[in-house]
Amino acid sequence: MNVLLDYQVILLPKKNYWKWVRACSKYVIEFGANLTDDPQSAISYMAPSQVITFPSGVDLFPDHDDVESWLREVAPGVRLDPVAVRSTKELKAALSKRIDDDDRYGQKQKSFYMLWPTDYPVITQAFGANPQIYRRFGMPGHEGLDIRALTNTNVYSCAGGTVYEVHTNPKDHPYGIHVRVRHKDGYRTVYGHLARALVSVGQSIDAGQVLGKADSSGASTAAHLHLTLERDGATARKETKYPKDVLDPTPFMVWPDRSRKKSLPSLTWPAGRCLVGGRTWEKTKLTACDLDLARSADLEAVQIEASESAMNVARLRQIRPGMLIIARLNSDLSGGPVSPGDFVAEIARDLKRMAAAGVNYFEVTSQPNLQSDGWGRSWRSGYEFGEWFQEVLGALRDVEPQVRFGFPGLAQGADVVSWRGDADRFLAEAQAAADASDWIGVSFYGAPPAPNWEKVLTRLLASYDASFPGKLLFLSLDDQEYAGVDPVSRTRSLTALFRRLRNERNLGAAFCYDFAAAHGHDGSESRQAASQSLSAAKALGQRDF
Ligand SMILES: [Zn+2]
Repeated sequence: MNVLLDYQVILLPKKNYWKWVRACSKYVIEFGANLTDDPQSAISYMAPSQVITFPSGVDLFPDHDDVESWLREVAPGVRLDPVAVRSTKELKAALSKRIDDDDRYGQKQKSFYMLWPTDYPVITQAFGANPQIYRRFGMPGHEGLDIRALTNTNVYSCAGGTVYEVHTNPKDHPYGIHVRVRHKDGYRTVYGHLARALVSVGQSIDAGQVLGKADSSGASTAAHLHLTLERDGATARKETKYPKDVLDPTPFMVWPDRSRKKSLPSLTWPAGRCLVGGRTWEKTKLTACDLDLARSADLEAVQIEASESAMNVARLRQIRPGMLIIARLNSDLSGGPVSPGDFVAEIARDLKRMAAAGVNYFEVTSQPNLQSDGWGRSWRSGYEFGEWFQEVLGALRDVEPQVRFGFPGLAQGADVVSWRGDADRFLAEAQAAADASDWIGVSFYGAPPAPNWEKVLTRLLASYDASFPGKLLFLSLDDQEYAGVDPVSRTRSLTALFRRLRNERNLGAAFCYDFAAAHGHDGSESRQAASQSLSAAKALGQRDF
């Protein structure tokens, strides 16, 4: 599993299609790209976040004179990756070289290329778009790329070079506050609509270095980055139809940018190990039986609803004074759209009440890629959720600045229409919001006794670690696997799981003891069954780690 955004589709000629497929097979295994012989499928696949790779030799796509220009026109803003080859043999050789060089998109073979300049891998206005608007500026169309960026988020230099202009007046230029950088071979980049510049004229900067913070200064209606690429003499040499040496940056963009080291706000975990935790099922409160179980199993951490009574929080603390308690902040998101403001108004009282009772960790919403939890209603993608979440996070930090807010665990799995959005894609799209959180929730389906549970879990944790290095994680286990399993072997499996996780890096706690769901989700019946497992819980309580 890979939570980085890498939507690549390889468009191949219809003629001798299977020969072309064979030429790509090693590359596909290495990088996980998709294949198609249908240009329309390539254009719509994960649009506009995909990269379309295709052999660009003449006459390979007889329906189009020049397939590259055709794609540029019908799919503006989509990154194209033409491979200059004429035969299957040449394609195979070119792709082998990319594998050997660890150079997925062949960028290292170009003399000049540009790293992605924001934390958001989305183009909001393509190069050349809206000619009617740009004509009055003497341009045939939009003279750069508009790239998603929220207010005060980082803007990175696309390539190494020297800063030659920093414009600090937000009012007297269409680009507002902007920075201009000169690179090698006469290339220049311009970063517009900033909140502020963080570099000065004459400063030499590296590729990927932060040069400012994004905003909406100048002629702009919403926060984003405007990026222009120019090259000395390009207009005179007819390298471009645009005046003022303006070039289309799209073919130069490296995407996604795996090279950037992210700076993540994170916490050192005081406990220094992964705590043994239990949790209530969604929308249920602790019962006397649950408290008995927590005591018998010697739980070190408990996850509850924020609507839980302060009395029960006190009871948990009686069981174990240092008990880590995480409270889930939820409101009903199954209906029409709920604005960030309405959500905060809904949960603020419980937040204050729980914080007053000494709870320091809060998970904000749960499983937001499920339709029942807001997907398709309050947000339609991870990007939209990320923006919604960041607004909520800002407001919550104003209410309780000292507590730790977590990004919610996602319902694992791929797209299911009218139910769930693909978890990996959702997380990658919402990555900036997860970065901004104090910790991240991870849901795990497939607990023991499910086959391969250890392998699946190891891969899941490794993928979070790759995307969020050093970030504190809390793991929640979906306990449905235990339905029908007798309490003794269930406890044995859980003990093995907790032992496996005890020294897992970055894992603060695992909430694996699902009070009410031990035998399915049905309330009273399952509680009764859970009470029968009290003696089994004692076995967990007698663990030797
Ligand atoms: Zn623009």
